[in-house]
Amino acid sequence: MSMLPSPEGNNDRNKTVEERTKRRSQGSKNASDSTQSPWSLRVATVSGIPIRLHFTFFLVVIWFALADINQMGHVGMLLAILGLFFCVALHELGHSLVAQRLGYPVQDITLYPIGGVASIEGSPRPRHELLIAVAGPAVNFVIAVILNFVLQMTGDGRHNLNVHLLQGEPLAFLYRANVMLAAFNLLVPAFPMDGGRVLRATLGIFIGKYRATRIAAGIGQVIAGLMGLIGLGVFGAQYQNFGLVIIGIFVFFAAAQEREIETTEAVISDQKVEAAMVRDFHTLSVGDTLRRATEQLLATNQQDFPVILGEEVQGVLTRHSLLRALATEDDSAYVTGVMERNVVFARPEDPLDEYLLRADGVRRAPVLVTDASGKLIGMVTSENAMEFLMIRQISESRNATRK
Ligand SMILES: [Zn+2]
Repeated sequence: MSMLPSPEGNNDRNKTVEERTKRRSQGSKNASDSTQSPWSLRVATVSGIPIRLHFTFFLVVIWFALADINQMGHVGMLLAILGLFFCVALHELGHSLVAQRLGYPVQDITLYPIGGVASIEGSPRPRHELLIAVAGPAVNFVIAVILNFVLQMTGDGRHNLNVHLLQGEPLAFLYRANVMLAAFNLLVPAFPMDGGRVLRATLGIFIGKYRATRIAAGIGQVIAGLMGLIGLGVFGAQYQNFGLVIIGIFVFFAAAQEREIETTEAVISDQKVEAAMVRDFHTLSVGDTLRRATEQLLATNQQDFPVILGEEVQGVLTRHSLLRALATEDDSAYVTGVMERNVVFARPEDPLDEYLLRADGVRRAPVLVTDASGKLIGMVTSENAMEFLMIRQISESRNATRK
């Protein structure tokens, strides 16, 4: 994510903040979290990624346009702000395109007044995360270099960094803003900003993602606390800045939330499907009736039943589709007419997170696990996936305390 320079400054302090890049949905926490806000408007699609403007963005543009706080004039001001958000969108595209290239789907990019958020799916391993995190600020660095060149060529000398952010021409403003976007986002190691991700990814290469996440989130919260204290004027009235306090509060809670999300992902990131699968399960055969399925449902605590022909899986009869069918059909009907044929298969050695964590939360339908010969050897249901997550989380936090 990228964070933006705030307009209300009457001093030269940099109020760039960056908020978070990834909103991976995961676990029970935000299973219903739809990344498509009804309050946003799609303005473009790049590489299959919708770019949306949040409605609060328009409020800020109006505010900027009306504010008489600069020497550019309203039109210049508006151009500068729109240019800035264009750069923020490019920053998020930097994260997104690298993520796509590394195999992580990107749902969308949303631009808020304080910056942008790219929703990247999956749980990148540390080396990938490092590349994805660096890509955003790198885009702003390149833009700044190009703008610097243009400004030199046009002989505009007013773009040095000592000039107030909102003074000067739109191009000079954009140059400064991009320098700040690159520097602030990369250099402040406050998880969940890009710098925090770089820190977490780098630590993760050496000590594993779980501990790296906790350390990076902790450092982010300490920095957030410092921002708050500085903003309140504790270290001198000349540094007092209410905007900084707001940013500090934002970073503090974002770090806490990210730690929770990341923790869930981290505890299963190195796990294989076989670790979470049920090995003891009942199946139905293609010739079975709904009556037989109902008996199985009542006699066991299983909810979803693979439907087998010989050794081959034909589909899955879930509790939901069984109950729905019983409402309309006679219980002498065959399960094959009711079962779901769209089955997700996995191998025991596959990474668990690819199957458990989906954009819409923990996968609902069971994942069937087969061996090399195609024989069904287990299944991962949502119930035992949730239990597995809980148990892993408890044992990881116990290990972390002992270390
Ligand atoms: Zn970023």
